[in-house]
Amino acid sequence: MPTSPLSTQLHLSLPSPEHEIKLREAQQRDIKVWVKRDDTIHPVISGNKWRKIKHHLVHAQQHQIQHIISFGGGFSNHLHALSYCCQQLNIRFTAIVRGNYEKKPSPMLLDLASWNTDIRYVNKITYQKRDTLLLKHLQIEFPDALIIPEGGSSELAFQGVADIINELTQAYDFILAPVASGGTLAGLIKASDKLSLSTQILGIGVLKGQDYLEELVNELLPDEHTNRNWKINHDYHFGGYAKKNAELISYCTAFNEQHAIQIEPIYSGKLFYALEDLLKRHYFPAGSRIIAIHTGGLQGAR
Ligand SMILES: *Cc1c(COP(=O)(O)O)cnc(C)c1O
Repeated sequence: MPTSPLSTQLHLSLPSPEHEIKLREAQQRDIKVWVKRDDTIHPVISGNKWRKIKHHLVHAQQHQIQHIISFGGGFSNHLHALSYCCQQLNIRFTAIVRGNYEKKPSPMLLDLASWNTDIRYVNKITYQKRDTLLLKHLQIEFPDALIIPEGGSSELAFQGVADIINELTQAYDFILAPVASGGTLAGLIKASDKLSLSTQILGIGVLKGQDYLEELVNELLPDEHTNRNWKINHDYHFGGYAKKNAELISYCTAFNEQHAIQIEPIYSGKLFYALEDLLKRHYFPAGSRIIAIHTGGLQGAR
């Protein structure tokens, strides 16, 4: 049995700090902005994915599980983080990857291979059956393995995300976070009982055409949470327009030079772009206190 907690075994830097950043539009209106630095939790393990896999790993250790299986795409931050953790913890890891990258593996898949992950490539159709037929096959082939679903919408994932709220050292009027599958946002909302009712949790949608996310998040929440003060803004996904993307990339470059914080164009870039644009549009009342959750994920930008 391990004698030290996972965060010690994996050399994680927790709780992640809250750093104040100076943004001109904010200062003009007496608004203060902080960043919750989940990007500093670990140089390899993406902060957001750590939050979501933590309790799966605790479960694996408590039950002496020696083998973990999970799913993801060819650039998945989730598989990347999990692969690294398993290698560090001496747990065998099998990654089921959607698409055939055998001939041209992504930098992330090369990392997985170097961390001794067994990679299995499956086509889209097989992948779609990962929660049904494929899952059954895997359970038969590996009866002792822990199979972790892709994404972060399980109860164990929510528990890890709740730590973000629990770690906050002061009160905020707005909490901003990027939204892809909605798992993180749902976890934040679920954990927000301790916050003042006036605190707004504002998700910034990073994917195009995800207008169903509100419904999805609502489904993930028990009834008593439905009146919580939360929203998803869909104006900043940069929907693949080349021109817009160039603008986003130059925004990230300028931000990286101005602040001692690295951002990338997939999650954190859109989050901070949205934050600054909403400041310009006076979305936040004068005097507001805002915290943006930097969820990490810099490996995905390669
Ligand atoms: C996966 C990921 C997210 C999105 O989280 P969801 O729970 O899918 O909404 C945000 N930031 C980073 C860095 C991620 O890797």
